[in-house]
Amino acid sequence: MLDTGLKILIVASEVAPFAKTGGLADVAGSLPKALAVQGNDVRVVLPRYRPIGDYRTVTDFPVQVGRRKDTCIVRQSRIEAKYPGGMKEVPVYFVDNYHYFDRERFYGYEDDAERFAFFNLSVIPLCDALGFRPDIIHLNDWQSGFVPLLLRIRARHDTVWNEVATVFTVHNLQYQGRFPRETLALLGLGDEYFTPGGVEYYGDVSFMKAGLLFSDVIGTVSQTYAKEIQTPEFGEGLDGVLRKRGSDLYGIVNGINYHEYDPSSDPRVYRTYDSRDLDGKRENKHALQRELGLNISDEPLVGMVSRLADQKGLDILLKAIPEVLGRRLQFVLLGSGDGRYEEAFRSVAASYPERVSVTTGFNGILAQRIYAGSDMFLMPSRFEPCGLGQLIAMRYGSIPIARRTGGIADTVSDYDASTGTGTGFLFNRYSAEGLLAALDRALEKYADRQVWNHIVKQAMESDFSWNKSAAMYTEVYMEAMARRGRVERPA
Ligand code: ADP
Repeated sequence: MLDTGLKILIVASEVAPFAKTGGLADVAGSLPKALAVQGNDVRVVLPRYRPIGDYRTVTDFPVQVGRRKDTCIVRQSRIEAKYPGGMKEVPVYFVDNYHYFDRERFYGYEDDAERFAFFNLSVIPLCDALGFRPDIIHLNDWQSGFVPLLLRIRARHDTVWNEVATVFTVHNLQYQGRFPRETLALLGLGDEYFTPGGVEYYGDVSFMKAGLLFSDVIGTVSQTYAKEIQTPEFGEGLDGVLRKRGSDLYGIVNGINYHEYDPSSDPRVYRTYDSRDLDGKRENKHALQRELGLNISDEPLVGMVSRLADQKGLDILLKAIPEVLGRRLQFVLLGSGDGRYEEAFRSVAASYPERVSVTTGFNGILAQRIYAGSDMFLMPSRFEPCGLGQLIAMRYGSIPIARRTGGIADTVSDYDASTGTGTGFLFNRYSAEGLLAALDRALEKYADRQVWNHIVKQAMESDFSWNKSAAMYTEVYMEAMARRGRVERPA
C-alpha cells in the first residue's frame, strides 16, 4: 500500500464552476474536492473555451495534430475545497489554443474531432511541462477517450509512464465522439488501430470505444447503468465491448457537493430552510409562483430542470401532459436543448398561463429556486446514467417522480405505504401511463400533509454527499494501480 495520498489527474471537457452544460461538470468539479480533502494530490484539466476567463499562463508547448503544429498554452486557476478542518486547493489547468477553443460553445463544431484530438494530445505533454507524474489519470467521456492509448504508446519508449494507471468513466454512453477514419491520422495513430477489435465503430472511429478498450479500469456512474450498458438496449453498439470488459467495469453513483447544494445556506433560494423548517420551503414555493407569474397557491407544484433531449423522457411527458394538467397542480419547467421540445412546452405554457411556467435557457439561480420551491420533481428519463437532478431535488425536499432506470434506481427508493419508507415515486414502463400512475400515487400522498412531510424529511435527510463515493473511487484507483503492478490488489 502507498502510505501517502495518490497523485491524480482528472481530465474532463467541462468542470463546474468554469464550464458546465450538464452533470459531468458537477462531477468533475466536486469529485476532485472530495478526493483532495481525503488527502490526495488532485489536479484537473479541461479546455479553455471562450466564456472561461483569462487565467494566468503557466507554461506552453507544441502539439502536432495531423499535419498542423500548434501551441498549447496552459493556464491555471484552482478550486477550493472547504472542510471542517480547513481548506484544500485543487489546481485547475486549462488547455488553451486560440484556433481550437476560442469559441462560445464547447461542442457541436465541424472540427470537433480535431479540437478534441488536440485536447487528448495535450494531456501527457502537460504533465511533462508541469513536472507532474500522476499515479492515476482519470478520463471522462469521449472527449478524453484517446488519452489511455496515447499514454501506452508513450510508455513504449519512456517506461516510467508504464506505471501510470488509467481509469475511464462513462457519464453518458450516448455521446460517443464518432468521427471519420481520418481522425486517426490527426491523433498520429496508424491504421493498425482501425479494426473491429480496435477503435473502429461501424466504419468510423469512436473516442468512447478507445477509452473503453485501452484504460486499465473502466466504469460508469451507477451500478444499474453499469449493468444496463452491457445489454443491446442501452449499449449504443458498444455492449459487446462492455461485456468483454465486464470484470473491469465498476459502477459508482455520483454525489453532490453538500456545501453548494444546501437549502440551509444556499444564497440562490428565496429563503433558506432545512428539514425541520418546512414552512420555509412553503415560502420558497410562493415566492417562485410570484416570480414566474403563477397563481399563489398550495396546490402541488411539480418542477423539472433538465436538458431538453430525447433521453429525458420528454416525449412521454408531452403525451401525458393533457392528463397531467387535468390534475390540480402547477408545472414549472426550466430546460434548454432541442428546439422542438422548447417550442412544444412553450405552447403548453401559453395555454395554461396561471398554472404552467416554461423557461428556456440555462439558469443556475432559477434552477435552485425550482428545486427549493417545488413539491415534486419530474424525471421520466428513458435512460439515466446517474442523474443529479433527483439528488439535488431530494436534498431540497422536492420528491422525485421518476422512471426506475440507471442511477435513479440506485438513489431513489419507491415510497411504500405499508412501511412508510421511501423518498420518491417510481415507475418502470417507459410510457405516459406509467408516468401518470406514479404522479397519481404522489398526489394521493400529498393530500395527507403528515404523510407528505414525513416523505420530504426522509428525502432531505438521505446522504448523497461525495464522501462515500470518493472513497469508492480511491478503491477503483488502487485496483487500476494494481493492474500496473504498483500496489497489492485490494481485498
Ligand atoms: P445530464 O448530465 O444528463 O444533463 P444530470 O441530472 O446528471 O443530467 O445533471 C443535470 C445538471 O444540470 C443538474 O445540476 C441540473 O440542475 C442542471 N441543469 C440542467 N438543465 C439546466 C438549465 N436549463 N439551467 C440550469 N441548470 C440546469
